[in-house]
Amino acid sequence: MKFVKRKFIKIVGFSIISTLFFSINFLKAASKKIINPNLSNKQKDIMFNEATERPYSSKLLNEKRKGFYHCANCGNKLFASTSKFDSGTGWPSFSEALPGAFKTKIDHTFGIKRIEYHCAKCGAHHGHVFDDGPTESRKRFCNNGLCLIFKPE
Ligand SMILES: [Zn+2]
Repeated sequence: MKFVKRKFIKIVGFSIISTLFFSINFLKAASKKIINPNLSNKQKDIMFNEATERPYSSKLLNEKRKGFYHCANCGNKLFASTSKFDSGTGWPSFSEALPGAFKTKIDHTFGIKRIEYHCAKCGAHHGHVFDDGPTESRKRFCNNGLCLIFKPE
């Protein structure tokens, strides 16, 4: 009798744990989703596996026209061209994002504490934000160019 009871607790315990595990995984999957079916493997790698493009590889580095930068996955409007500046880092850089464009999270990769940001609409990873920007906000959004689509005005 005692044995049966223990087995029962074991099974119930296991189902509770697996239910929790699966719901956490489900939440993770739900917050990040591929919307644009034309994303390249490199874009998917950056946006969904938190990879980084090679510095000085983005065509957007020299983009100086007036307009807005959108999320390459979902089209969410992220930056105005007026906040873009040349940081010398080799990645498109911005002193501020449009209100509500991103959600941030602390990233400890390589043992360094950095603030990572994701598109608030589709959850795609875009880059890291630092506190050494050139304007009063002191912010420097270091963005992977492959995650952005520029629409001139
Ligand atoms: Zn997005």
